[in-house]
Amino acid sequence: MHPYVTSLMKDVKAKNPAEPEFHQAVEEVAESLAPVLDKHPEYKSARVLERIVEPERVIMFRVPWVNDRGEVQINRGFRIEMNSAIGPYKGGLRFHPSVNLGILKFLAFEQVFKNSLTSLPMGGGKGGSDFDPKGKSDNEVMSFCQSFMTELFRHIGPNTDVPAGDIGVGGREIGFLFGQYKRLANEFTGVLTGKGLNWGGSLIRPEATGYGSVYFASEMLATRKETLKGKQCLVSGSGNVAQYTVEKLQQMGARALTLSDSSGYIFDEQGIDKEKLAFVINLKNVRRGRIKEYAEKYKGAVFTPANPSLDHNPLWKHKAECAFPSATQNEINAKDAQQLVKNGVYLVSEGANMPTTLDGVAVFLESRILYGPGKAANAGGVAVSGLEMAQNSMRYGWTREEVDNRLQMIMKSIHKSCIEAAERFGTPGNYVNGANIAGFLKVADAMMDQGIV
Ligand code: NDP
Repeated sequence: MHPYVTSLMKDVKAKNPAEPEFHQAVEEVAESLAPVLDKHPEYKSARVLERIVEPERVIMFRVPWVNDRGEVQINRGFRIEMNSAIGPYKGGLRFHPSVNLGILKFLAFEQVFKNSLTSLPMGGGKGGSDFDPKGKSDNEVMSFCQSFMTELFRHIGPNTDVPAGDIGVGGREIGFLFGQYKRLANEFTGVLTGKGLNWGGSLIRPEATGYGSVYFASEMLATRKETLKGKQCLVSGSGNVAQYTVEKLQQMGARALTLSDSSGYIFDEQGIDKEKLAFVINLKNVRRGRIKEYAEKYKGAVFTPANPSLDHNPLWKHKAECAFPSATQNEINAKDAQQLVKNGVYLVSEGANMPTTLDGVAVFLESRILYGPGKAANAGGVAVSGLEMAQNSMRYGWTREEVDNRLQMIMKSIHKSCIEAAERFGTPGNYVNGANIAGFLKVADAMMDQGIV
């Protein structure tokens, strides 16, 4: 490890104990940036990275609500306002029982670099709660969202902090959150993105992360004069990102073979076609059921239940050329990464945030496969959120084609920035270094211009 990284990590761990995901995210970025900081001592003496790892503000609050049986429930809410050097804080809300301060800090930290890569004026933030929407009625979800927003509303605003969705927060939750914001603030503004189409949302926002991750994969393949046509693909997750990843793969002539949720995964050798995807979208977004039902409906498919005692995830053992992890953090460890490479996968495009552990990333980099890290590959979601903010400010909506074209242009430009930054700092083809460096430089220069704040 570079001596600068060793010393930075010592401080980060001492100041932020028991936050392993945050340490992991910082270490990955710091490793990429060490050569940049050696070349540019001005960033080092202004302690730019030391300031970036310290959130500008952390808000933590009680969220009390009453369930359908009349019982009082208490959850914890958070908003991490990480960095506003290049624009208002921007980043999703996650509702999942695993949510804690460390997970949200890792996500907010990643978001700073990701948002910078999009070239849109957005700072980085993230928030959420340990509330679990699974198994709750619509009424309970509304009750929770209203209570959550009753505190959050005083901290956010269209020019201050603009949250969006993430795990457990989709169109339904954004609707309830927006309704309560509007009622409390007495104004109709673009304070959240991922809104419904008839009340300020943007076309293509639901599709954006999945589509963007596939566009990024196409760009990576183009460097080897290849396309996605005919490629077999492993996809994990079955939520927003996974669904639209599969849809775009279908449109590009590739074949998606797997999907998962926290109870297990399905493998469909025939491929997930349009009709099967429509079934999944209804299953997950309307009936809110488990992925196991896919294998009950389509007999050719096999369901494998999740087995936490295994030291690997069997989803990643199937033969394929491409992988699109789109569920959650650390779902690919070193063993999974080795299996993937051994079985022929030579492209990984991360729809999820930090789905690969640090030693898993090392396996991908050593094998010189096309490896697109989340902060580049999944930036399409926040990019279209940025476009939603632009449309809200203009009080005007673009067509589907217009937004999709802009998304494609943004993903191309992110790819180009990664390639150029990686080459400039001596590691051609390394998208991890490329994304970290390109994302950092814009934020760092803005921080240098704005003084010690
Ligand atoms: P959804 O809630 O729509 O779907 C999440 C999917 O991942 C579900 O299938 C869920 O299964 C599975 N999952 C979640 N947590 C776990 C876990 N601990 N173990 C196993 N499976 C799990 O979320 P999204 O699709 O929006 O998000 C997926 C990933 O993409 C996340 O990493 C998110 O941060 C990232 N991302 C999302 C963006 C967006 O625009 N939505 C933008 C950029 C990144 P189950 O239902 O059983 O929990």
